Order: sequence, then structure tokens, then C-alpha cells
Amino acid sequence: MSDPVVIIGAGPAGLACAERLAQGGRAVVVIDDNAQAGGQYFRQLPPGYTVGANAPLLRDKARFDRLARVLALPNVTYRPSSTVWGSPGDMTIAYAGPSGSGRVRATAVVIAGGAQDQPFPFTGWTLPGVISAGGALNMVKAHGLVPEGRVMVVGNGPLVLVAAATLVTAGADVIGVVEAQPGARLAGALATSVWAAPKLLRTAIDYRRRIARSGAWFKTGRMIAQATGRDAVERAAIAPVGGDGRPRIDAQTWSEVDTLVLGYGIVPSTDIARMMGCQTAFDRSLNGVVPLRSPALATSVPNVYAVGDGAGIGGVEVALVEGRMAANAILGIEGEAALARQYRKLDLFRRKLNIAYARSETLSAADAGTIVCRCEELTLGDLRKDANFSCGDVDRLKKSSRIGMGRCQGRNCLPALAKMLDLPPDGYATLPRARPPLKPIQLRHLAADADAGPAHEPDEALIHNRETS
Ligand SMILES: Cc1cc2nc3c(=O)[nH]c(=O)nc-3n(C[C@H](O)[C@H](O)[C@H](O)COP(=O)(O)OP(=O)(O)OC[C@H]3O[C@@H](n4cnc5c(N)ncnc54)[C@H](O)[C@@H]3O)c2cc1C
Repeated sequence: MSDPVVIIGAGPAGLACAERLAQGGRAVVVIDDNAQAGGQYFRQLPPGYTVGANAPLLRDKARFDRLARVLALPNVTYRPSSTVWGSPGDMTIAYAGPSGSGRVRATAVVIAGGAQDQPFPFTGWTLPGVISAGGALNMVKAHGLVPEGRVMVVGNGPLVLVAAATLVTAGADVIGVVEAQPGARLAGALATSVWAAPKLLRTAIDYRRRIARSGAWFKTGRMIAQATGRDAVERAAIAPVGGDGRPRIDAQTWSEVDTLVLGYGIVPSTDIARMMGCQTAFDRSLNGVVPLRSPALATSVPNVYAVGDGAGIGGVEVALVEGRMAANAILGIEGEAALARQYRKLDLFRRKLNIAYARSETLSAADAGTIVCRCEELTLGDLRKDANFSCGDVDRLKKSSRIGMGRCQGRNCLPALAKMLDLPPDGYATLPRARPPLKPIQLRHLAADADAGPAHEPDEALIHNRETS
């Protein structure tokens, strides 16, 4: 029997891909590090929780249930709670977790690893009570937890609306919502493309209505300036965005808060693609560094595909369609006109949306004393003193300063740092290579990997890739 197709990620993109491949008769292995499938958008309450007053939060539950049926099919092996940590050989994926560890050889690999919150350092951002928009959404959706007291949501991008509306619906006391992009600029930039995604526009209007009905104020063209508190956040200051992308402290206003939710964008998670040697490039319309892909969503490494938010921020609908397109490519199905039409529209709209929210100047509220790398406790001042700060090469700065060498392996700090350094688009090529283990794993899980041997350097894949491209 031939090797299976390995799908990394059981979010919308991974599940849609698995469904189509399984229907096409292929053996599929789906690996995901969460206990339950669904990824970010379809994140589920733990088994045993019932849908109560927060039912509107789970309005896509039926859609998820239909999609997740694929995981029970006989030709699908589903490995929940399993972290993909390496690629120790040609088309080989290594995973580890409490439900089993091992390696699997694949005929094709589909990377559907999703996105991550973009951290936004400023004075006070490490105080307890300051959380990311993605973290807030996960708390509500996966645990039924709603922050107590006064909540303020600040940021730049569509997730600000999503987080605020979700928190309001879940019963949080949201006092205010702050978006950095002026409303008029957003409306102007999107006016010519709303025809491509009218359903998404209706959803956005519904979110705004829910926020307005809750009594929360909504301000645009402003950003977080600083937050203070003794043992946890107590006050937050917002200010108009200055011409240099920094808050205008002379015009800042303070509010009493118990929770501050930060949503300064999400960025594609490219660690798996970079580890496998896929060529990447910076694309502003996709919100960051992304794997280069063919129209069939194949990366530069033969038989490796990248889909969903991990290949460019686009949201759930783009993720679903891309999952199906990659499956078609693997199955050799060509010319599904309706799917191609749907993708053209959604792709156009998400690119316009990402550009509409992007500010021409880099937003920053960090000062010399602000911690940028939480794992290594490095401030912006520490980094500025480093001889490599202005060299434009994040990899060199990492080696001399230790930024990105802690537990998160740079997943959190390096995208934020790259923005602060104002790298030119080709400067993103200097992001350090992702090395195994990609994420922290327990040694006892690794020890359970019967095939464990020396992991080969990802460099080999990269060199091979360069030579054959
Ligand atoms: C934190 C966060 C919260 C979000 N919440 C919402 C929301 O509430 N509403 C909304 O409309 N959009 C939300 N989004 C946007 C969301 O990314 C998309 O709408 C959609 O979920 C993208 O689907 P996807 O399949 O590409 O990725 P995801 O849904 O992110 O799925 C990717 C999956 O891959 C898994 N994975 C990643 N790396 C590994 C690894 N090394 N090993 C094993 N598994 C791995 C992840 O744990 C995840 O389950 C959120 C984004 C983020 C980053």
C-alpha cells in the first residue's frame, strides 16, 4: 500500500483537504496538537460541556460537525494532541504527544498549521490581565471563560471586531473598542471589493451592531499608548496614531480596565514550511512571510503543499477552499470551475482587506525599557545596544543578542521585531531557519518514538531545494 498523505493541522483548511482526499479514496493521516479538531475558527468546548446561553458563539457547530465526520472514516488516521516537531528525512514527518509518538512517511504533505497572534510590545503589556485577541477568543470558545470586570479591546485588523463581538456576545463587559486604522480609510479601501465577499461584509456589520448594542464605545485612528497597574492591569491609555506610527502621548486618554485585549494582527505560522525547506517571501497582502506557492498551492518542495492561514491570512472561507484545492491537485483533478471562481473572489477580497488594514507607517508603542523578547527578558534598549541591531539581518541579531532563543523559539518575538526593525521586504529572508524540535515536546514522548535516530539538519532540505529549483 502506498504511503498516505500527511496533513498537519485539523483546522478548517486541514479538515477540508482531508475530506476531499478521503472521498477520493486516499489514505490520509491528520496530525494536530490540540485535543480536539477544529483549529482556531471551529475551536470546540471540551467534551461534556453543553451549549448554554452562549449558543450564538457556536452557530457554526453544525458546519463543523459535518466537516469533522471525515476523521472517523476508515482510510483516515487522526492523531490529536500530537505536535509535529521535525522532518527527519525525505517526506517524513515526526510527531510526539501523549497519544503516541513516531514518524510517518508521506506521498504528499499538506501544511495547514494556521496563524498566530502578532505580539505588540508597549509599557505594561506584560502585566497580568493583558491578553491577546486570539487568546481571548480561545478562552471563550474552548473553555467557556469570560474575563471579569471592564474589558477594553485594542488593535489593528479584523480580529479586533471578531474578538470584541465574541466577548460581548459571551457576556463580557466590554467598555470600549479601539482600531488603529481610520474608519474612512477602511471604507474607502474596501468599497471596490465588497461585491467579492458580501457574506463577510454582512458578518462585519453584524459584529459592529452587537458591539454598539452592548453600549461599548468604538474609536478608530487610535492605538494603545501604555498600561499601568500594581499586580495586574488597572488603567490603559489610548492615543491618536501619530504620523510616525507612534501614539501621540500629548493627547492620550486613560480608562480604568480589568482586562486589556490586544489584537494587532495575526501572522502566518511558517515554521513547518521553513523547516521543510520551502522558499518563502514577504507579501503585504497576505500579512507577512509566506511560502511561495504555485496556482495549485504547491510549495517549492516537491509534493509539499501549504494551505489556509499559514500560507497567508485569509480567514475560514479561504482556508476551506484552499484545503479542497490542494486535495484536487494531489488527486489529479483539474478544472473545477466553481471552486476556482469562488477562490478568485475570496482571494481578491482577503488581499484587499489585509492591505486596507495595513498602515503605511509601522505601528509601535515600545520604548527603550519595553520587553520585546519575553523568554530571554530582552528590552528594546538591550537590543538597540547590540552591534547587530541595525544590520537588517534578524538571524545575526538573534545570534548576538539571544532574542528568539527561548521557549517560544522566536515564534512570538521575531515577527514583532522584524516589524520594529522596518525591514525591507527582502530583509524578511533573514528570519532564522526553523529547527527541530519546532515546539516544546516532552523527552518521554520523544523516547517513545521507536524510530528515533539522528534528526537530519533542515539545511539539507534547503540546499536540495535550492539546487533543484
Ligand atoms: C489565536 C487565533 C484565534 C482565532 N480565532 C478566530 C475566531 O474566533 N473567529 C474567526 O473568524 N477567526 C479566528 N482566527 C482566524 C483563523 O486563523 C481562521 O479563521 C481559520 O481558523 C484558519 O484556518 P486554518 O485551518 O488555516 O488554521 P487553524 O484554524 O489555525 O488550524 C491550524 C491547526 O494546526 C495546528 N498546528 C499548528 N502547528 C502544529 C504542529 N507543529 N503540530 C501539530 N499541529 C499543529 C493548530 O494547533 C491548529 O489546530 C483566529 C486566529 C488565531 C491565530
